Amino acid sequence: TPNIGVLALQGDVREHVAMLEHAGARATPVRRPAELSVVDGLVLPGGESTTMSRLLESFELLEPLRERIAAGMPAFGSCAGMILLARQALDGRPDQQQLGGLDVVVRRNAFGRQVDSFEADLDFAGIAGPPVHAVFIRAPWVEKAGDGVDVLAEVPGEPGTVARIVAVRQGAVLATAFHPEVTGDERVHRLFVDLVRKA
Ligand code: GLN
Repeated sequence: TPNIGVLALQGDVREHVAMLEHAGARATPVRRPAELSVVDGLVLPGGESTTMSRLLESFELLEPLRERIAAGMPAFGSCAGMILLARQALDGRPDQQQLGGLDVVVRRNAFGRQVDSFEADLDFAGIAGPPVHAVFIRAPWVEKAGDGVDVLAEVPGEPGTVARIVAVRQGAVLATAFHPEVTGDERVHRLFVDLVRKA
């Protein structure tokens, strides 16, 4: 059984732990470098990415986490977690730190100009069955994805606008702009648990 950590600095930590357990993993909150060093993979919940990057620094997790991700540890970032895993974040604060792992450029609060929060049913590559019900809360979108990045889901554009990428995978790093921990559907977490098993 894979042992998956949930970064426990901000956000829906308990919900992610519960979803990972439903999906067949062992799940533990991670707040310290020693806890990070023993997990097989890590979930980065949503929250506020600038605050999370500051908390990562004060908990002395920023460098250890960068190193583990660079060494191939599977990671799954939701919303602010996606922003942290991106190579670059647009509309961020100057002191925003990136963890890397995903060769994407994201735009923070991207949908906010149209609507702060919304829900949508999405086709999600690699997830069979009914569409994934996605809850977006001040969500980013992926503005540019590198060649090694698989696009897994998009929000269709309104007439006259383009579709926006909201779920990606690069190797064992998965990210969604939405919050799969709040819907009771554990299929996205199951996809991540499978990535951890294969890694
Ligand atoms: N808007 C937040 C940010 O920029 C992300 C919101 C979320 O994680 N729900 O970090």
